[in-house]
Amino acid sequence: MLKRNAVVLALTLCVGAIGGRADVLAQAGGTGPLPNVVVLATGGTIAGAAATDVQAGYTSGQVGVEQLLAAVPQARSLAVLSGEQIANIGSQDMNDEVWIALATRINELLAQPDVAGVVITHGTDTIEETAYFLNLVVKSEKPVVLTAAMRPSTALSADGPLNFYNAVAVAANPEAAGRGVLVVVNDWVHGASSLTKASTTAVQTFLSPMSGLIGTVAYGEVEWYRGPVGKHTASSEFSVSQGTVLPRVDIIMAHENMDGALIDAAAAAGARGLVIAGVGNGNMTAAALDALAAQAERGIVAVRSSRVVTGQVGRNVEVDDDELGLVASLGLNPQKSRVLLRLALLTTTDPATIQRYFDEY
Ligand code: ASP
Repeated sequence: MLKRNAVVLALTLCVGAIGGRADVLAQAGGTGPLPNVVVLATGGTIAGAAATDVQAGYTSGQVGVEQLLAAVPQARSLAVLSGEQIANIGSQDMNDEVWIALATRINELLAQPDVAGVVITHGTDTIEETAYFLNLVVKSEKPVVLTAAMRPSTALSADGPLNFYNAVAVAANPEAAGRGVLVVVNDWVHGASSLTKASTTAVQTFLSPMSGLIGTVAYGEVEWYRGPVGKHTASSEFSVSQGTVLPRVDIIMAHENMDGALIDAAAAAGARGLVIAGVGNGNMTAAALDALAAQAERGIVAVRSSRVVTGQVGRNVEVDDDELGLVASLGLNPQKSRVLLRLALLTTTDPATIQRYFDEY
């Protein structure tokens, strides 16, 4: 019953997509054969189901990749689609095992000459982390597009079907190549390094608050604005493969009256790196800063990011990073700083080299 509702709703919601098909086909390369796009499903609300179509409570990761594909038959006018189920979890449970499997599979697929691009379905909670991780470890210029939904597939006005259709349109679009890993949700095309989840519940949850959108996509018709910020994919010096163990890095949020207890506890728990979601310009109390500098002295790499959603964390502005041996996150938020630091720690613990990574990526 739930599954039938999902398909019926998806079909109803996507009727409007058919009108844009001619434009989209023209963008995707005109009258030639359709490109092959592989859909890798990981779960999330886009694959979620609730008991009724107007219920707030639901469970992520209930619908398989074949059902997702079947719910949006219009997408088959944009690309030859095949699907693989990598995981079926809420993205609050995203983990290193799935990340490594996903990155490895994407690199295998994109090395095949007949695969034009990849679409990944994912939960919204950690999509920015997965997108940024893939942006650093995918070794291809071909399009890699993540999409998601805020409403489960069974909901009235589910947003997943059109998001999926638009994601396929972007992945099938030759001009998506070389723009790094992209996230397509609610008609907007975000770069992996710029987007962040900005609302717990709104359909329009994703923003790229500093550098702006890479483009827009309306019923499959793509408008490009610019390229991504920072080095990515084929020009990235980071890589993972099956068996890679990513080092532990913890995020600690700064606040009024903060002491150094959690910083020391994270180090004692085995963290090789720490990211502080600082106040303002990556700042924290003197007690916390003392504890952080002491851990940096011991070889634990300490990055100052910010709990503030926009702006940069500047090196040596309010905190003497040179003196204390710290790294400034510049434009990366705490969750993405953690991703970059984990990959950096695979090869170095040198704060100067890691600061260069934050400058360049
Ligand atoms: N908790 C869900 C997830 O991230 C939320 C969503 O997908 O919107 O999987």
